[in-house]
Amino acid sequence: YDVFDTLSDRLSATFKNLRGKGRLSQQDIDDTLREIRRALLEADVSLQAVRPFVAAVRARAEGAEVSKALNPAQQIVKIVNEELVGILGGETRRLRFAKNPPTVIMLAGLQGAGKTTLAGKLARWLKTEGHTPILVAADLQRPNAVTQLQVVGERAGVPVFAPEPGNGVGDPVKVAKDSVDFAKTKMHDVVIVDTAGRLGIDAELMQQAADIRDAVRPDEILFVLDAMIGQNAVETALAFQDGVGFDGVVLTKLDGDARGGAALSVREVTGKPVMFASSGEKLEDFDVFHPERMAGRILD
Ligand code: GDP
Repeated sequence: YDVFDTLSDRLSATFKNLRGKGRLSQQDIDDTLREIRRALLEADVSLQAVRPFVAAVRARAEGAEVSKALNPAQQIVKIVNEELVGILGGETRRLRFAKNPPTVIMLAGLQGAGKTTLAGKLARWLKTEGHTPILVAADLQRPNAVTQLQVVGERAGVPVFAPEPGNGVGDPVKVAKDSVDFAKTKMHDVVIVDTAGRLGIDAELMQQAADIRDAVRPDEILFVLDAMIGQNAVETALAFQDGVGFDGVVLTKLDGDARGGAALSVREVTGKPVMFASSGEKLEDFDVFHPERMAGRILD
């Protein structure tokens, strides 16, 4: 993912300085950690995530972790790699499906975060996994949103549940509720509810999302986060955690050229795992989030 390019380059430059050293002095470790800390902060990883990360690497680097098979530089890389996997959530957190279908997945996030696009990607992916999802247009804020979801649904080959003109228009809570009944009768096993987002955090938006949540009791609430919004990501995530709550995070725009620290902070700050990654405008630019692979790419 391009968002990590700068961080990758900085880290590999740091590790290069250690190459060929037979033994690391305290000074080597201090210098390396300072560089790692700086690289993370410059990539927009929040201080709240950087501190425990650097402390953990330090403790292990200074500790008795000596391996005969690895030289000191390789050992540091190994430690950083493992700590990156940890900060990214450790294990892959998979979707939980309801015992009694339909499984209801609700998407929340700021406008422009990539929710509607993500809804289509998720639906398409679920279809390839053998599910029979529907998309639900519960974003009735933007005039264009319903049409946009219909376009996405068509591309994904997935039906879209949208308000009938004159029947419940303007009431996203009712639309969401009706969609679950619809899914039950039509044997759709997953319902993906796209909700409205505003450009900024907004009490009314939060309340609407909370009302939809209470009406459909989602099995999974996914917070959709634009990886390019930098340091604001943490604040936004916390506001959504507070206002709506969520079970997992979807990172979008990982193909962007910005500093991708948001991705590395969100798990530490919210305690919620990143579950999916979105990296382009095409429906196929989507994958389950694998912390180990992601760490591997950052250190590649
Ligand atoms: P919503 O307001 O949260 O529903 O966001 P949209 O799904 O409408 O996405 C906002 C813009 O971001 C659109 O132009 C999308 O094509 C674009 N977009 C969404 N996901 C990605 C992504 O992963 N990468 C890139 N480059 N663009 C994306």
